[in-house]
Amino acid sequence: MAEIHELSENLTNQIAAGEVIERPASVVKELVENAIDAEATRIRVEVLKSGLTQISVQDNGIGIAPDQIDLAFMRHATSKIKNERDLFNIATLGFRGEALASIAAVSHAEILTSTDGQIGTKAGFSGGIKNFQEDAGSPKGTKITVRDLFYNTPARLKYLKSPKTELLKIVDIVDRIALGHPEISLTLASDGKVLLRTPGNGNLKQDVANIYGRKVAEEMLTVESEDPDFTLYGLVSQPDLTRSNRNFISILLNGRYIKNYQLAAALMDGYGTQLAGKKYPIAVLAIEADPLLVDVNVHPTKEEVRLSKEKELSRLITGAVSQALLGQEEAGSGSSPL
Ligand code: ADP
Ligand code: MG
Repeated sequence: MAEIHELSENLTNQIAAGEVIERPASVVKELVENAIDAEATRIRVEVLKSGLTQISVQDNGIGIAPDQIDLAFMRHATSKIKNERDLFNIATLGFRGEALASIAAVSHAEILTSTDGQIGTKAGFSGGIKNFQEDAGSPKGTKITVRDLFYNTPARLKYLKSPKTELLKIVDIVDRIALGHPEISLTLASDGKVLLRTPGNGNLKQDVANIYGRKVAEEMLTVESEDPDFTLYGLVSQPDLTRSNRNFISILLNGRYIKNYQLAAALMDGYGTQLAGKKYPIAVLAIEADPLLVDVNVHPTKEEVRLSKEKELSRLITGAVSQALLGQEEAGSGSSPL
């Protein structure tokens, strides 16, 4: 057997990239989440050819100082946590310090960033190696452009679905992030065509109208509830406004879009017997929880989280949804012309 040796940083980055960056939509998700963590109020995502040719994400956040660029693109380097205590008290969307290193390892990546909107920095990376860094004019904030994703990992490229499917996945993740952040103006353009633009005025109903249509938004009911551990706010469709799969249910935990079967089931339980068989509501549910109750460190993509008090939260959700529907019934019968 060959001798054991340590892998180069470049190679380990490529291996790690396999976990975090599965497809163009993962790049979009990571870059937009970074923009949100950087306190951006405006984020613009542009993709060419479903993100395979190019993805760029521009924000008006805090920017990155010139001497921090290398660290930003280094694996396991982050500004978001410092110690073990922080790991169990995550208030940001990122914390693993993996995304930029992973993205740069499997693409040609360029960054243009400025912390003050005066002088900025431009730098380029290819296959994880830095090509250049120079001073450059830039508005305050950060723009990251990713070209030729997976150019050096042909197996990963082959595993991708059709361009149409990959674009749908990008649209899906941007939609969900927008629903979780009505206070941020998010734009998504594909091959020059604007697919989504949210105003960023904090009005969730308006975002729902932008994404699912005005008619749907008008028929949604407000869900609001809290207990000592959780605060809920959201919109759910009336029982006769349904879809044939659960993809129209978005659950956001502390601003993070998560996949959680239990919580989605709790939401549907709130409808009791009012949902027809194999019918699913349209719903957006934003949950605020003490970060101490949430373990995000479960999976590299952070879509799955472990929750303390999940049963209590489920009960709260079911109760809040059934309350919203009941309120509607009462309002309905009161104003009935009969
Ligand atoms: P993480 O988000 O887990 O910290 P990333 O690799 O995504 O790891 O980013 C590394 C670091 O680069 C971040 O911790 C942050 O300090 C900085 N950074 C990344 N994107 C941005 C951005 N859009 N604006 C400002 N800083 C950023
Ligand atoms: Mg990140």
